[in-house]
Amino acid sequence: MSELFRNEPSLDFSTASRADAMRKSIEHVRSRLGASYPLVIGGHHVVSAATATFSSINPARPDEVIGVHITATPEHVSQAIDGAAAAFPEWSRTPVQQRIDCLLKTADVIQRRRAEFTAMLILEVGKPWTEADGEVAEAMDLLRWYAHQMDRLASSQHLTPIAGEDAEYFYVALGVGAIISPWNFPLAITTGMTSAALVAGNCVVVKPASNSATTVAWLVDALHEGGVPGPVLSYVTGSGSAIGDALVEDRQVRFIAFTGSREVGIRIHERAAVVGPGQIWLKRALLEMGGKNAVVVDETADLDAAALGIVQSAFSYQGQKCSAGSRAVVVESIQVSLLEKVVALALELNVGDPADRETSIGPVIDANAYAKINDYIRKGALEAHLAYSGDIPQSDGYFIRPTIFSAVPPGSTIAQEEIFGPVLAVIPAQDLADALSIANGTPFGLTGALYSRNPDAVADARSRFHVGNLYINRESTGALMGVHPFGGFNMSGTDSKAGGPDYLLFFMQGKSVGERLIDGQRVGASLAHARTH
Ligand code: NAP
Repeated sequence: MSELFRNEPSLDFSTASRADAMRKSIEHVRSRLGASYPLVIGGHHVVSAATATFSSINPARPDEVIGVHITATPEHVSQAIDGAAAAFPEWSRTPVQQRIDCLLKTADVIQRRRAEFTAMLILEVGKPWTEADGEVAEAMDLLRWYAHQMDRLASSQHLTPIAGEDAEYFYVALGVGAIISPWNFPLAITTGMTSAALVAGNCVVVKPASNSATTVAWLVDALHEGGVPGPVLSYVTGSGSAIGDALVEDRQVRFIAFTGSREVGIRIHERAAVVGPGQIWLKRALLEMGGKNAVVVDETADLDAAALGIVQSAFSYQGQKCSAGSRAVVVESIQVSLLEKVVALALELNVGDPADRETSIGPVIDANAYAKINDYIRKGALEAHLAYSGDIPQSDGYFIRPTIFSAVPPGSTIAQEEIFGPVLAVIPAQDLADALSIANGTPFGLTGALYSRNPDAVADARSRFHVGNLYINRESTGALMGVHPFGGFNMSGTDSKAGGPDYLLFFMQGKSVGERLIDGQRVGASLAHARTH
C-alpha cells in the first residue's frame, strides 16, 4: 500500500443541495424502518419464530421503531463462538493482503452508503447531522488506518543479526474474539474494534449495545459485502446482562474488546480473568471505559475561544461522548467573565429532533438515561449553583435541558461521576497548579483540555495532566483517527489507543523463530511467508 492515509473530510451541510440530499436520505431510511434483523451465526441468518425479540427505537420519537432484533440466548452465543472457532484456522492463514482488502472494500461500501449510514445514526441514536456524518467518516478512517497498519506490521520486524543463525519475528492472530460495543458511537467504535481484530486474522462474535443494534446490523452487512467470509464474523443481539457473561466466559474466547461503562468494564475484567475448565490461555481484555473530563482555563487564555471549547466539549452530542468535557476548571480571577460567555453560547444551542438540520442538541439515548441524568441535575441543584437551564421542545422524546452548574465543589457527586448527558460543572480553582490537581482528582483519565497562552502552563499540563488524550487550546472532543490515537488512563481504560500505531498489537501475538544455518543456508521457507501468515 503506497498511498498515504488521509482522514475522510466531513461534509458541509450548509449548501442547499447537500442539505436537501440529506433530508431525502433521512426520509428514505425512515421509509424502511421497523425491519426485522436476524442473528448471524457461523455465516447463517438465524431467525426463529419461537425466539423473543426487542426493538431499538428513535430517542427523539420513542414511538418510532428503528429495527426489531432477536433476543439471543446463551446457546446462540455458544453456537456463534463454535462457528468462529471453526473458521479461525483458515482465516488466520488467509493471505494478509486479502484481509486488508476486506477492510478497504468495506470502507468503500460505507462511502457509497454514507448518507444512509448518517441517516441511521440520526434516527437510531439521536445524533445531529454533523456529528452523525463525522462518525461515518471516522468509521471509514478506522478501516483504512488499520489496513495501513496491518500492511506495516505484516512484514518481518527488524532484529539484531547474529552469526550462523537466521532470526525472524512476526505477528500471528490470537483466535476468537468477543466484540462488545456501546451505543454512543455504534458505527465507528464497532467498526474499529471489529476491523482491527479481523485484519489481524482473528474471528469474532460482535454484540452491539441493544439501543444501536440496527446500525451494527448494517455494519455487519457492509463487512460481509466487503469480503469478510460469513463464518468469520458473527452477530448476536440481546441485553448484555443476559448474554454478556456467556460471551466473556466461554473457554474458546481468546480476547474481549469492549467499549462501554466502567461498571460493565470492571465486571468483564473480573470474569475474563477466571480460567474455565479446559481453557489453555489467559484471556486478553481490552476495556475502554468512561470519563469525567476537564477543560482547564487559566488567566492568560483567550476567553472567547475557551468559552466555545467548553460549550462544544460539554454539549456536543448531548454530552454523551466519553470524551465530553463535563467539567470546566477555571482559575478564579476569570471565572465570572468566562461563565458569562459560556452561558451566552449555551443560549444559542437549539434542542430538538436531530432529523432537523437546525438542531444542535438532540435527545439522550433512552428512558433510563433520561431519568438518571435528571437525577444528577436534581443532585447538582443541592450541591452547587444552577447557572443555566436551557429550553426543550414539548415532545415525548428524551430531551434534557442543557444545564450549567457553577461554584461546584471538586469532590461533589456531579464533579466526580460520569453523567453522560448535557450537564456542565464549572469548578473554581485558585491557580493552575490547583486546577490541574482538581482535573486529575477523579478515578478517570480519558481526555482533558487546557486553554492558556502561558508557555510554562502548557508545559506543566503536558507533563502533569494525567489523561490519555490532552488537547491544548481546543475542545476535549473530536479525536481524528490516525492523528489523535484515542484511549484513556486509570478507570478510563486499559491504555490502548484506538486509531494509533500500536492498537493492532492487542489483537496479535509476536512469534520469534531462530534457525541455525546449515552450510550458511536456511532450510525453512524465506521470510516472504510472513506476509501470508
Ligand atoms: P454499557 O452500558 O457499559 O454497555 C456497553 C456494552 O456492554 C453494550 O453492548 C451492553 O449491552 C454490554 N453489556 C452490558 N452489560 C454487560 C455484561 N454484564 N457483560 C457483557 N456486556 C455487557 O455502556 P453504554 O451505555 O453502551 O456506553 C456508554 C459508556 O461507554 C460511557 O461510560 C462512555 O464513557 C463509554 N465509552 C467509552 C469510550 C472510550 O473509548 N473510552 C468510547 C465510547 C463510550 P446492552 O446495551 O445490550 O446492555
